[in-house]
Amino acid sequence: MSHPPPPDFGPTSASHFDVVIVGAGISGLGSAHHLLEQRPDTTFVLLESQPGFGGTWRTHRYPGARSDSDLYTYGYRFKPWTGAPIATREEIVGYLGAVVRDDGLDRFIRYEHTVTDAQWSSDEGRWTLRVRRGDGAILTLTAGFLWMCQGYYRHDLGYTPEWPGRERFTGPVVHPQNWPDDLDVAGRRVVVVGSGATAATLIPALVPDCAHVTMLQRSPTYFFIGQNANELADTLRQLDIPAEWTHEIVRRKSIADLELLNRFALEYPDLARAELLQPIRDIVGEEFDVDTHFTPRYQPWRQRIALVPNGDLFHAIREGRVSVVTDEIESFTDTGFALRSGATLDADVIVTATGFTMNVLGDIAFRVDDVALDFASCVTYRGLMFTGVPNLVEVFGYFRASWTLRVDLIGDFVCGLLRHMSERGATTVTPTLRVGDEGMTRIPWIDPEEFNPGYLRRALALLPSQGDRDPWRHAVSYEIERTTLPKVDWDDGSLIFGTTASERR
Ligand SMILES: Cc1cc2nc3c(=O)[nH]c(=O)nc-3n(C[C@H](O)[C@H](O)[C@H](O)COP(=O)(O)OP(=O)(O)OC[C@H]3O[C@@H](n4cnc5c(N)ncnc54)[C@H](O)[C@@H]3O)c2cc1C
Repeated sequence: MSHPPPPDFGPTSASHFDVVIVGAGISGLGSAHHLLEQRPDTTFVLLESQPGFGGTWRTHRYPGARSDSDLYTYGYRFKPWTGAPIATREEIVGYLGAVVRDDGLDRFIRYEHTVTDAQWSSDEGRWTLRVRRGDGAILTLTAGFLWMCQGYYRHDLGYTPEWPGRERFTGPVVHPQNWPDDLDVAGRRVVVVGSGATAATLIPALVPDCAHVTMLQRSPTYFFIGQNANELADTLRQLDIPAEWTHEIVRRKSIADLELLNRFALEYPDLARAELLQPIRDIVGEEFDVDTHFTPRYQPWRQRIALVPNGDLFHAIREGRVSVVTDEIESFTDTGFALRSGATLDADVIVTATGFTMNVLGDIAFRVDDVALDFASCVTYRGLMFTGVPNLVEVFGYFRASWTLRVDLIGDFVCGLLRHMSERGATTVTPTLRVGDEGMTRIPWIDPEEFNPGYLRRALALLPSQGDRDPWRHAVSYEIERTTLPKVDWDDGSLIFGTTASERR
């Protein structure tokens, strides 16, 4: 089989780093912290496409953007959170900014540096990266190890389905990922297409200005109504307990509560469904059709459940400021949408909160020894490395629990792996199926029976598969990984350690 020639990396003005971290979102910044703390002699650089840090929290500037999990677990284990559990985008950017400041991370970050190509050479035992700078210049860097913190979706392109007749509607059509600073919704009728966490946070924030907001959804989503307060945290603060202790205690309590809720939802889905829906019924009242508009067809926890603080979305529905339409879009019209039921929906502004376009490892063209890498043909090692791909770890967080819990665990994993390599004098590590593993059953990267949001379903064919046994499974559970990841057996035969051909000569 012949392969296209490797890309021309241009003149080599290469600088070499032990580790290159790709992405300065919550994953990249946390990973840099762990590297600095646990491997202070490692040379590294953090490459980020955007002109600033924050990733998701820099990109999503729509009104009301906020976390949907609590910051005691969404925050890092090493940086106490001192505010209300659910945080606004601005508060999260502030928190990340404090981490950048505390650790002096600015020294290590190169903004407006997009990695476009990565080529592994077994002979050299290093990655050569092609990097496009904001001013158009192309640079070459080399890295002993790639720590991929690129997130899971394209920041410059949200996902909007292609409904026919787009040219007929002349009003603004906006995706929340690209919210224009000057979008004026005052006194206007806004239709928000979507039913997920983004729609649920955006809609209450639009209500005070708009004439009316309609939430147009194809199918409903589960929501959890809670207060944006944590009694335990408030009590500990009143007692003047140090912030570090409060963070750790409340974090453990939140994790325990979440695990209980997860188990309950998995074991008793009907009861969990009823418990999630009752508080919504209590707010919206008997006349509102909760069965049609807020009772999903899937089991609770097959998709992330967003917390709606104080039920603000449902109060706005009760007050008549928001209506909900559960239907399918047939096409745009001159004044809004034509729907499958035959109804029409008029709008001055349309917001498509319809999700993400997944990226697979930063849309980087990877090659290993001149062969283009197709990640879909790899098997994942614990959902963080890939068979046949040397010296590379990806951070992919949890969905049912806070993403960041896994950032901290993988931080320890990578630092432990680098320590182990240096102790045994190895410079390369490659996950490789053992004799007996080759014939194992392969299942998708994330089992759709377990967790199946649309953006993952759309991209599953591009993602690596997992096996039916450890370490080839992607656990997607903090409850499991907090005990398994710290105890990884480096010598179970699934990680092949080596030195480069040139070192051996
Ligand atoms: C509105 C919103 C709210 C959310 N709320 C929660 C929540 O409450 N709890 C939770 O657990 N999760 C939440 N999530 C999921 C969230 O995306 C993750 O929690 C987390 O922010 C992902 O962080 P990350 O650093 O891995 O990726 P990202 O935030 O996507 O950052 C990745 C960074 O890598 C950069 N990058 C990508 N490719 C390249 C490349 N080739 N070269 C250079 N740089 C590159 C990008 O520019 C970006 O800055 C939310 C998501 C959204 C959109």
